[in-house]
Amino acid sequence: MAKDFLKDVKDHYDVIVIGSGLAGLTGANVLAKQGYSVLLLEHHYQLGGLATWFKRRGGHIFDISLHGFPNGMVKSCRKYWTKEIADSIVQLKGVRFENPQFSLETTFDREDFTNIMIEKFKIPSETVKAFFDTARSMNFYDDQQMTTRELFEKFFPGRSDVVRLLMEPITYANGSTLEDPAITYGIVFSNFMSKGVFTFQGGTDKLVLQMKDELERNGVDIRIRSLVEKIEVSPDKRVTAVHVGGKRITCDAVLSNSNLKNTILKLVGEEHFDPAYVAETNAVRLNNSSCQVYIALKEGEKFDYIGDLLFHSEHSGFDIKSMLSKDISSRTFSLYYPETRPENDRYLIVSSTNANYEDWANLSEEQYEADKKQLCETTLDCLEKYIPDVRQKMDWVEASTPRTFQHYTHHPAGASFGTKFEGLKVSQTLPEQIKGLYHAGSVGIIMSGWLGAMNYGVIVSNELDKYLAANRTSAAV
Ligand SMILES: Cc1cc2nc3c(=O)[nH]c(=O)nc-3n(C[C@H](O)[C@H](O)[C@H](O)COP(=O)(O)OP(=O)(O)OC[C@H]3O[C@@H](n4cnc5c(N)ncnc54)[C@H](O)[C@@H]3O)c2cc1C
Repeated sequence: MAKDFLKDVKDHYDVIVIGSGLAGLTGANVLAKQGYSVLLLEHHYQLGGLATWFKRRGGHIFDISLHGFPNGMVKSCRKYWTKEIADSIVQLKGVRFENPQFSLETTFDREDFTNIMIEKFKIPSETVKAFFDTARSMNFYDDQQMTTRELFEKFFPGRSDVVRLLMEPITYANGSTLEDPAITYGIVFSNFMSKGVFTFQGGTDKLVLQMKDELERNGVDIRIRSLVEKIEVSPDKRVTAVHVGGKRITCDAVLSNSNLKNTILKLVGEEHFDPAYVAETNAVRLNNSSCQVYIALKEGEKFDYIGDLLFHSEHSGFDIKSMLSKDISSRTFSLYYPETRPENDRYLIVSSTNANYEDWANLSEEQYEADKKQLCETTLDCLEKYIPDVRQKMDWVEASTPRTFQHYTHHPAGASFGTKFEGLKVSQTLPEQIKGLYHAGSVGIIMSGWLGAMNYGVIVSNELDKYLAANRTSAAV
């Protein structure tokens, strides 16, 4: 008999959280700690959403999105999770760039970048300082018209090498382009520049399992393999229940961590919203997707240190179209040494490239498999420049594509980094359309990535708490 993943689920919860990405997990934890009864529903067999991992024979464990995040994660994990989780966050030693314009390694913080820009790129120190100060002072309430391209033109006119240094890592970190609002760049770049790039020692599996333990300690009812089919709304536009696995479970509020457009257009249905809001939702652009190649060395094999993150590009300048192209000329290699998972002393490499869903979506199965094989081969060819005997030492190689990300997360077009900037307003104004319905998850570039998604989960759950508290007060009067 098939296992019933919803066995003994209650008929009613204060809050139902749909999806266990970092925003969903963090929101569920915050709300449970505030004393609400919380049901967390995740369609996959594993929690974490894109913060995930998989195992392969030979004892290999691959992380999907553990490449680097800003130091702010330490504070957020300590405040909204546990000290134990925060204490496992460690700094990456070196970020390396190899491209036709320059070759360098950096600790990726303001001090080192300042030195590099002055000494290597010959930018006057006052310009560098003014740029950093401008980026640092940007916030959500600022001018949202200036693009990142215009910001760079203002400080470094005609310097495509400087633009590449400043922009390439951020494009990899959140899929943003030179046409996105400068504030999205300023906020994310400054977050990284405060102290450098960090990772979670022990791997994503350890992090997510520690989060699961904490959620259970706080009383969250967690159900995996539970795909929510519908969010039910009353005629007076109030959220009433969710439908999952043939059950109707009532609730006072829903926090959806499912993709923004999915939440509004599919789980609720556009007939429940104002037409203008539906038009605004339809106009939200998704961010791009990704391809990855996962390579594991045989047990006992190793490679010398070549950096923790390596931005390799054969393209003459920074060019987003070429970064998204299926004809790959730019790759980011994440190098995992035994320190990543001290109890599993393997050497692994994950190559990531930004990708367009359309390039992969409609291939025949045969062509799809052939193209994935080709992606593995060209990645290994490229990697041989840094690890010449990688093919001899290798034990495992496989690729994922935008189709893989769509399959596991249900994100339309396999979006790796949520939506473009306009998605943030649509997400934030959702409760104005339907009482008790909230969305938290990668949106607007600044609320994406591990830190952005986690912090957005906190912001939205605090709003949700205010709503529930106000409702209880009015019911008691
Ligand atoms: C290849 C790649 C590399 C990345 N690298 C980094 C990095 O180095 N650093 C960084 O900070 N960020 C990185 N990111 C981005 C980061 O992983 C994400 O922004 C973040 O994890 C997203 O969290 P989220 O809360 O938006 O939810 P998601 O992770 O998108 O999770 C949403 C969850 O909702 C579930 N769900 C959806 N619909 C339903 C439904 N109807 N019923 C039940 N469950 C549902 C999904 O299964 C999923 O588990 C990377 C992303 C990718 C793809």
